[in-house]
Amino acid sequence: MNIFQEVKARVTARQVAERYGLKVSRNGMACCPFHNDKHPSMKIDQNYYCFACGAKGDAVNYVAVQFGLSQFEAAKKINEDFSLGISIGQSVVGKKQKPEVQDKEKILTKEERIQFVQKKIDKWAKDAANVLLQYLRWMEFWKEFYKPESTEEEWHPLFVEALQNESKISYLVDMLMFGTDEEILVFSETEGRR
Ligand SMILES: [Zn+2]
Repeated sequence: MNIFQEVKARVTARQVAERYGLKVSRNGMACCPFHNDKHPSMKIDQNYYCFACGAKGDAVNYVAVQFGLSQFEAAKKINEDFSLGISIGQSVVGKKQKPEVQDKEKILTKEERIQFVQKKIDKWAKDAANVLLQYLRWMEFWKEFYKPESTEEEWHPLFVEALQNESKISYLVDMLMFGTDEEILVFSETEGRR
């Protein structure tokens, strides 16, 4: 593992963000520090994603953006501030890059194909996540608005729904934003058939 992988394996974006001053609610939402955000638009856990401005990344990337550092400096800063004790040096210094001269055309077209599919998956996942996020916000509202005032009061169906679904939806949003393409494809196939 190089320093980036090692840092990311040890601390989450949420941990570093909280350490450097971001307030994160229990369901992992926060006001985005990268745009003028009045209502929490950022989902943050292992990685982060802002539904308003599109900022996204991991723990290292978060620190790099917040403090205006390079990825490497950011990883070093986390390593120091969290006392991770990762030794830096040999693994970070660049590997030799083999120049690939032959088959350049083939590689390009294949990459383009991959990029095309990638974009489609990304767009689908983003749209789906946005819908789910709206739902999540409604549930947050219902939880407050329909909160029973006494123990005798019967629970409003929307209050019940919010309690039942909030963690599941929150998980799905995470998966859509940060899951592997494979996970997202499996999800899109199973959910699409319902
Ligand atoms: Zn933002």
